[in-house]
Amino acid sequence: MADLPPPTLRLHIDKDALAHNWRALDRLSGTARAGAAVKADCYGLGVDTCLPVLRDAGCRDFFVAHWSEVPAVLGRVPAEQISVLHGVGCAAEAEYARATGVRPVIDSVRQAQIWTESGAGPCHLMVDTGINRLGISPGEASAPAIQALSVEVLMSHLACADEDSDKNPAQLGAFREVMNKVAHRETSLANSAGVALGSEFSFDLTRPGLALYGGVPRPELAEIIQQVAYPQTRIIQTRQISAGESVGYNATFTATSQMRIGVVSLGYADGILRSWGGAHFEGDGKRLPILGKVSMDMIVLDLTDASDIGEEDWVSLPYHLPDAAQQTSLSQYELLTVLGRRFG
Ligand SMILES: *Cc1c(COP(=O)(O)O)cnc(C)c1O
Repeated sequence: MADLPPPTLRLHIDKDALAHNWRALDRLSGTARAGAAVKADCYGLGVDTCLPVLRDAGCRDFFVAHWSEVPAVLGRVPAEQISVLHGVGCAAEAEYARATGVRPVIDSVRQAQIWTESGAGPCHLMVDTGINRLGISPGEASAPAIQALSVEVLMSHLACADEDSDKNPAQLGAFREVMNKVAHRETSLANSAGVALGSEFSFDLTRPGLALYGGVPRPELAEIIQQVAYPQTRIIQTRQISAGESVGYNATFTATSQMRIGVVSLGYADGILRSWGGAHFEGDGKRLPILGKVSMDMIVLDLTDASDIGEEDWVSLPYHLPDAAQQTSLSQYELLTVLGRRFG
């Protein structure tokens, strides 16, 4: 087989920034240690690239959502450092957990029964203190199936940590009450935003995800967290258009004067959704506005004022997440996880 030519789009991951972000969140967690949410392929940035960086920075607690996400993590860190947030919903999942030694996060009385019937062993326990998603309700803490568990980390999850909401102290109080009702070794409540809420939210272990990868869920983190992901693409064709000519599907952009335009090699199939229309790329220190609609594999840029940029040159999409979220009306979480698989 011939060698594949180099890709025309790439996602540069700043590994130093990723390691910096974990260390900063670990420091901000005070006496608690920071773990890492590595679900959804490290929020779309790639477990292969990101997990070794987090591990080498000192992280020892890794969270995925699905059992299907375990194999990519398992070869790189010890099984007991991996937790599966969706728990064990059936006997096959419990069997896999026991065979691998990966820790399930038990989310319901039913899951507790499944885990115990499969032979039990160490697990974590999620208590729902107000987000009404996964987790036992506080009233179920005294259920025999829950009391029978060997709980390593008792955890809960904040619904509004990125806001100054009354829900934060309310959930904190509810969590503290449950702590007295279930035997456990350690406790964990805060996600990225929760780390910035203050030391009383940190407990023994924090579980940042978004902020590791460059997201800024609260202003307190703005000066601390560094950008990690940089989408870059090549100009694959340039052309001149005249006044009156239009660009792209449905001809939503029409030139009012002579223009030089360039086509870049990525589109909504790569996660650059149509809501980016109206934004700009950058190259050679210049703003390169997007013209017309984003296509599946292509975006057209205005190169009129960037005469030094031509075919085969690389340009980048500004991906500072707080700014990009404002510009596109996508959440910072969506901006990361939507990035496609064609990046080289
Ligand atoms: C995804 C997730 C996290 C990480 O949250 P971020 O807001 O990305 O920091 C922490 N805990 C649980 C239970 C999660 O599902």
